Amino acid sequence: MMENALFESHFDLIPFGIYVVDVVSYTLIHSNRAFRERFGDHAGRTCHKVLYERDTPCDYCRMAELLGPDGRPGGKTVVLEHVNEVDDRWYQMQIRAMTWPDGRVVKYSIAVDISALKDTQNRLAEAHAELALKNIELTRLSTTDMLTGLANRQRIDALLTSELAALAGDGRPLSLVMLDIDRFKDINDRHGHLRGDAVLIALAGLLRERCPAGCTAGRWGGEEFLLLCPGLSLEAASNLAEGLREAVMALRLPGLAGVTCSFGVTLARPGEGGERCMARVDRALYAAKDLGRNRVEAR
Ligand code: GH3
Ligand code: MG
Ligand code: MG
Repeated sequence: MMENALFESHFDLIPFGIYVVDVVSYTLIHSNRAFRERFGDHAGRTCHKVLYERDTPCDYCRMAELLGPDGRPGGKTVVLEHVNEVDDRWYQMQIRAMTWPDGRVVKYSIAVDISALKDTQNRLAEAHAELALKNIELTRLSTTDMLTGLANRQRIDALLTSELAALAGDGRPLSLVMLDIDRFKDINDRHGHLRGDAVLIALAGLLRERCPAGCTAGRWGGEEFLLLCPGLSLEAASNLAEGLREAVMALRLPGLAGVTCSFGVTLARPGEGGERCMARVDRALYAAKDLGRNRVEAR
């Protein structure tokens, strides 16, 4: 009995809840001061009743793991985290079987309240999730043209660079189509900037709709658009441009007599940089302008 009292007074000094349960009867045979202050003094009662308001042992009770085959303490400490639904707090549990001074085999549990830690963990996880979403949004914003929703110049430029790098390896062609609205300044002057914007938006919609899978349409600048067409030969890209030219002419925009575009087409050459390739498609486009507009020129 002396030994028991010494044991118990030691436990009272520990700031975490400690409770001791008889492994055979699940009777609470001892709890320290920190435990009693939180849950009350329930010596002699059944642990799952007192702690979890249950009539049967808890599903997560790991009693069996703590004992050796002979029913004696197995020497293993099990550490687990769980929520106590009764006081709605998170605990880290360290449980171990030991022989109590009176000879009984008991389960000895230390319960550390880690609710504040869990709270911080949850807030950190939420902050991470929010940051990830913001990053996705930021990437979208930094690569999208705000007026038309197409890829912006930076995005198209980066894609062109990577497509050109791939060109050396995989042998499939890469074609570029550049288009520019004819006499767009007149449209703005006559109908105002807002109507001009509506033309840009309608044209972007048409490009998005008709751009073949694998190709990317972007807004290169003011009223110039660029299509990157991996896998399309110069002829296939010219046919695509011709189809687009006709589709633009067929666009019906309220209050506008008709919009046309001029197109330049070129085939990227293995080993060349984006600037050379862009200069060539630009020359093709300006040839189309020089030759009377509303036409497709390949270079
Ligand atoms: P061309 O057939 O030779 O291409 O003639 P153009 O009038 O289309 O060409 P120009 O370069 O003289 O004018 C382009 C116009 O595009 C001038 C500019 O105000 C207009 N523009 C550029 N960006 C926008 C925009 O975001 N919204 C509107 N409404 N107009 C724009
Ligand atoms: Mg123009
Ligand atoms: Mg222009």
